Amino acid sequence: MSTNHDEPPAAKYYHYLCLLTFVVFVSCDSTPKTIVESTTGTSKTDTAVATAPAAEKKKPKKKIYLTFDDGPNKGTDNVLNIVKEENIPVTFFLVGAHAFGSKAQQVTWDSLQASKLVELCNHSFTHAWYNSYNKFYSLPDSVVSDFHKTTNRLQLKNGIGRTPGRNIWRVDSIQFTDNAKTKAAADSLYNAGYDMLGWDLEWHFNPKTMRAIKSGDDLANQIDSLLLKNKTKQPGNLVLLAHDQVYKNAEDSLQLHQLIRRLKANSEYEFAVASNYPGVKKKSITDSMLRRNMSKSDSLRKNNTINKDTNRVVKPAIG
Ligand SMILES: [Zn+2]
Repeated sequence: MSTNHDEPPAAKYYHYLCLLTFVVFVSCDSTPKTIVESTTGTSKTDTAVATAPAAEKKKPKKKIYLTFDDGPNKGTDNVLNIVKEENIPVTFFLVGAHAFGSKAQQVTWDSLQASKLVELCNHSFTHAWYNSYNKFYSLPDSVVSDFHKTTNRLQLKNGIGRTPGRNIWRVDSIQFTDNAKTKAAADSLYNAGYDMLGWDLEWHFNPKTMRAIKSGDDLANQIDSLLLKNKTKQPGNLVLLAHDQVYKNAEDSLQLHQLIRRLKANSEYEFAVASNYPGVKKKSITDSMLRRNMSKSDSLRKNNTINKDTNRVVKPAIG
C-alpha cells in the first residue's frame, strides 16, 4: 500500500526546504517592515520608539563654568591637581602681580600655563589696588590700564576679564553692574575690548579663616536649584565663583572634589570655560589696543608702586 508517508526521502526533504524558506522569509521580513512603518509615522508606538534617541540627542546640556579667582596663589596647585584628576575644563581669573610674586607663585604660574584644561583670564594686575575698590573704580582709565598690564605681562590669549570685588557683566548678551559707582569703569573695560564675566553663584568663605562656608554637596544642590528655576543670568548656563586660596585647606579641597563629582554625575550638565559663554566675543586684546589706553593712563598710577607691590598676596574680601 502506498501513502504520502511513504514518499521518497528526496521529496520529503524538498517539502521541508520549502517550509524552511517560508519561515525564514517571514521572520526576516518582519524587522525592516517595523522600521519603515515607524519612520513613516503609521504606528504611534513605533514612532515613539524610533524618535526618542534623536530627541534626547538634540537636548542641549546645561553648562557649568567653574571659575577660580586670585591665582596664582596658595591653593591654586590643589585646584589644578583636582582638575587634572577629574579631567574637566575650568577657568582661572588671574591677578597679574601674583604671577611675578614669590618663587612658589611663579612655579604655579608655569603649571597653569602648561595645562591644557584651563583657560586663563584677567582679574586685573593689582586686584583693585589691593582691595581699595572705591578709589580704584573711580578712575576708569586707570582700571583699564591695570587690566591691560595683566594682558601684556601674562601674554593672555583672550580679552575676558573679571572685576575684583564687583559682580560686573559686560558681554554682548548681558550688561549688568552690581554697584552704580563702578558703571563707568565697567563701560570703559568693555569699550577697551574686554568681555567682563561676573558670576551667578559664589562659594563663600570665612575671610578670617579662609575656609569654605558650605560643603560641596550644598553647592551642588544650589546649582541644581538655580538652573532648574532659571535663576541664572542666562538660562542653562551657570557661572560659579570660587577662590583658589580656600582650597589650600585639605578638607576644603575634598569638598571641591565632591562638588565636581556631583556635577559630573549629572548627565544634564557639562563643564565649559569662559570663552564658551554666550555672547563672549572670542577676541584677544591686540598690541595696538593696549597702547591706546596705556599711554593715556599710565600717569594716573606710577609704575614703581606696582613693582613695589608685586610680592603682596591679595586676600580676597569679595570677588
Ligand atoms: Zn578677586
